[in-house]
Amino acid sequence: MPSDSGIERIYQQVVRRNPGEAEFHQAVKEVIETLGPVLAKHPAYAEHKIIERICEPERQIIFRVPWQDDRGEVQINRGFRVQFNSVLGPYKGGLRFHPSVYLGIVKFLGFEQIFKNALTGMPIGGAKGGSDFDPKGRSDGEVMRFCQSLMTELHRHLGEYTDVPAGDIGVGAREIGYLFGQYKRMTNRYESAVLTGKSPHWGGSLVRREATGYGTVYFVDEMLKARGESIEGKTCIVSGSGNVAIYAIEKLQQLGGRVIACSDSNGVILHERGIDLALVKRLKEVERRRIADYAHEHRDAKYLAGSRIWDIPCDIALPCATQNELDEASARTLVGNGCRTIAEGANMPTTPGGVRVFQEARIAFGPGKAANAGGVATSALEMQQNASRDTWSFEHTEQRLQTIMQGIHRNCHEAAAEFGSPGNYVLGANIAGFRRVAEAMLAMGVI
Ligand code: GLU
Repeated sequence: MPSDSGIERIYQQVVRRNPGEAEFHQAVKEVIETLGPVLAKHPAYAEHKIIERICEPERQIIFRVPWQDDRGEVQINRGFRVQFNSVLGPYKGGLRFHPSVYLGIVKFLGFEQIFKNALTGMPIGGAKGGSDFDPKGRSDGEVMRFCQSLMTELHRHLGEYTDVPAGDIGVGAREIGYLFGQYKRMTNRYESAVLTGKSPHWGGSLVRREATGYGTVYFVDEMLKARGESIEGKTCIVSGSGNVAIYAIEKLQQLGGRVIACSDSNGVILHERGIDLALVKRLKEVERRRIADYAHEHRDAKYLAGSRIWDIPCDIALPCATQNELDEASARTLVGNGCRTIAEGANMPTTPGGVRVFQEARIAFGPGKAANAGGVATSALEMQQNASRDTWSFEHTEQRLQTIMQGIHRNCHEAAAEFGSPGNYVLGANIAGFRRVAEAMLAMGVI
């Protein structure tokens, strides 16, 4: 990290002021260490302490979420909402329900969300929230009571012009339904645009479910086009088997990619004949089972318990599971096996060491804040439809998503070239996102 520009000092201050929040430190470092050239070009940013202000959330809310399980036992979880930055629009970002959730995870996600949302070009600020609640093995009734309790506190901090949550890991259409129901009851308002990721039956947008995965693949398609290539005929692996992974696989298959592996936190499915996506959807979306069960239905597929998906040779790899799932050693294996294209469907799935390996190998690497922005961009399209009390067709919405992803790719590509690192999407995404936020902050004064 350049020590002369004051960036190192800002980073040390973030570490000191936010002790024990390793993922937040990592996310901040990954962004600000690339901002040297933009600070040099725009001295006003340093003068007005734009980076220091961006690193401090506008508001952080932590609260108790008590609920009763099916046996009548009282359970206590912790709820979070970190409202990071609202210069571009109401706070926007998902809720994550996972036992690993603590303030450091929510802050890393919220920080990333600021730049991701800025990159979409849409009027949305950055936030994130969630809980250490573990939905695994919980009944619908338990999930409902948990969501109702969470919203009983959270509702006072939300609003279509204030803060608009959506889903993330552990939060899908079922949870959004329970959350919306409780919000409506507490406020006596049918405020559709207060949550996104709603069911298309009652105010949700078509394509929102598919958007993060589809968008990641559109980003891959653009990176390949920039190198005169295409997805057609390429061997692909996709980590995870949740919402992002499923729809990334779907779009890869539609564009002629050969997807041979996916995974969950227990193991990897390798199916050389090509992943049977209908089966993955049934196992994960309908029956909420583990990916190991895939191998019971396809005898020619291999289940590799406890192994790393990154050891499988491929042309394209999409980490679509969770943070820091792809480390330096895995990155070396991928590159060594000939992989030339990576895009992050998950948030910060590649460790800093892994990113370095990809950059040194000069392969196409699309960072999450650009590559997975299609989800939140389609949330913004959902808000537009809600505001105009309109519903768009699948085709129209998907076309909008594709145009947005092309625009994000172009912005990153151009910013990287403008600041002397052509082809470096990490630098391009950080600078293009940061610049949009910084200009709005300058315009609004010291707030
Ligand atoms: N959780 C998603 C993300 O990481 C989507 C957030 C949203 O739609 O607001 O961007």
